[in-house]
Amino acid sequence: MGDFEIKDEDLAGRIGILETKHGKLETPAFFPVINPVKNEITIQDILSVGFESIITNAFLIKKYIGKEEDLHSILNYNKILMTDSGAYQILQYGDIDVSNVDIVNYETKLKPDIAVILDIPTGLTEDKKEAEKSVESTISRAKEASKFVELSKDEIIWVHPIQGGMYLDLIEYSARIADMNQDYKMLALGSPTVLMQRYEYAPLIDMIYKSKSNVSRGKPFHLFGGGHPHIFAFAVALGVDTFDSASYILYARDHRYMTRERVYRLEELDYFPCSCPICSRYSPKDVMEMPEEQKVRLIALHNLYVIKEEINYIKQSLKEGRLFEYIQQKAYSHPSTFEAFRRILNYSKYLEKYDPRVKGEVKGVFLFDNSSLHRPEVIRHAYTLSKIKQRSKALVLYCSDSKDNPLKNTEDMKNADVYIVLPFYGCVPYNVFFTYPYFQSEMPSTIDKDVIYDLKNKLKEFLSQRSYETVSIIGCEKILHVDSIRGAPVNLLLNKL
Ligand SMILES: [Zn+2]
Repeated sequence: MGDFEIKDEDLAGRIGILETKHGKLETPAFFPVINPVKNEITIQDILSVGFESIITNAFLIKKYIGKEEDLHSILNYNKILMTDSGAYQILQYGDIDVSNVDIVNYETKLKPDIAVILDIPTGLTEDKKEAEKSVESTISRAKEASKFVELSKDEIIWVHPIQGGMYLDLIEYSARIADMNQDYKMLALGSPTVLMQRYEYAPLIDMIYKSKSNVSRGKPFHLFGGGHPHIFAFAVALGVDTFDSASYILYARDHRYMTRERVYRLEELDYFPCSCPICSRYSPKDVMEMPEEQKVRLIALHNLYVIKEEINYIKQSLKEGRLFEYIQQKAYSHPSTFEAFRRILNYSKYLEKYDPRVKGEVKGVFLFDNSSLHRPEVIRHAYTLSKIKQRSKALVLYCSDSKDNPLKNTEDMKNADVYIVLPFYGCVPYNVFFTYPYFQSEMPSTIDKDVIYDLKNKLKEFLSQRSYETVSIIGCEKILHVDSIRGAPVNLLLNKL
């Protein structure tokens, strides 16, 4: 139980297969929250949308149902089941009246496929002492539960929560300790719900990065309360594998209609911008006129379809090696996602580290504006270039805006180091120009000023790091506004840049 196999990778994200007692879970995956007491949406509804995993709350099951048997049979459900422990209730109501040992022991009787100990969520407290306390309590509770975890490890994948709230040093500490505890095969980042509700995505990016960059790459990683489809792609890019949330139903109760880009109020809509079975059948006016219960149910179902669709878009983008382009596109759907995108660019070295060197089904690297300068392929080029030695005293630089052989005059190549000047990348050795990613790169025919500025800087840096005696530059009138020169001193070109 708990084996996790990574099938595809892009940026630091992955498509993986998690082995559970009730089957293989393909990640990234979303776990809709089922309230065992109040359920406008049935498990059957959730299955009909195409989800194969749900999460419910062991604390609420214990309190309101109390049975001590396999939860699959209590719920009449035979797919992947996760139980949360009541930590969210602690976050909402302060303390609850059961202990960690009680809940963990109870969870072993419910036999979910994945289970969480009763941790102490940090929330967004501004009291660092309090935050430290929640981290330490969570760590000691994980140790305290070890006996039960050990006994049930063949049936249940146990989750070690990572806490620390907004304190990134505490998150790092919490993540390292959680990762070392071998009883727990899955890790999860707690407390982000409030940030999501406030659309504060940038600090969330920091929290995910801080926790993910301090744990083993091979462990599945869950984001608690990750219910906004707008942020999924960013979280996946950083290496989050699973999400859970009740947002689909909480939003519906408030008549909030999700799309992959934003959230509408039902009364704002004249048309449904969606073709799910609900939106194909009804108009916003039809739904507005329905009794409250039915209205909530239909919006909740639609919201689930949107979440499912977003997860599928992310998986397809990941598989095609287009996750960067996808988050770039998502950036412009809301100022908060724009902020998230800008923040994730701070971590482009981390994304580059895990981004696969060779991509199976790459169809093209799409480059747009200066944000594309943070792509792994572009960052990696700087490393590649730094390893290439100078072989000649003469340097030839060509600019090319076409995929045709840019070298018209092979005379120029004799006894010289030959580079193609390529926007975004800088100087690309002629002998690799026809390989990935250079040859597959697509860019606008008019390049942004910022990118040209960056290109000139890259060129200056390249020249300053090498000791060429002469330089020729050919065909760069359009891109760099530099007339062709042949066999001139390097300083002549530097003055023109
Ligand atoms: Zn719909």
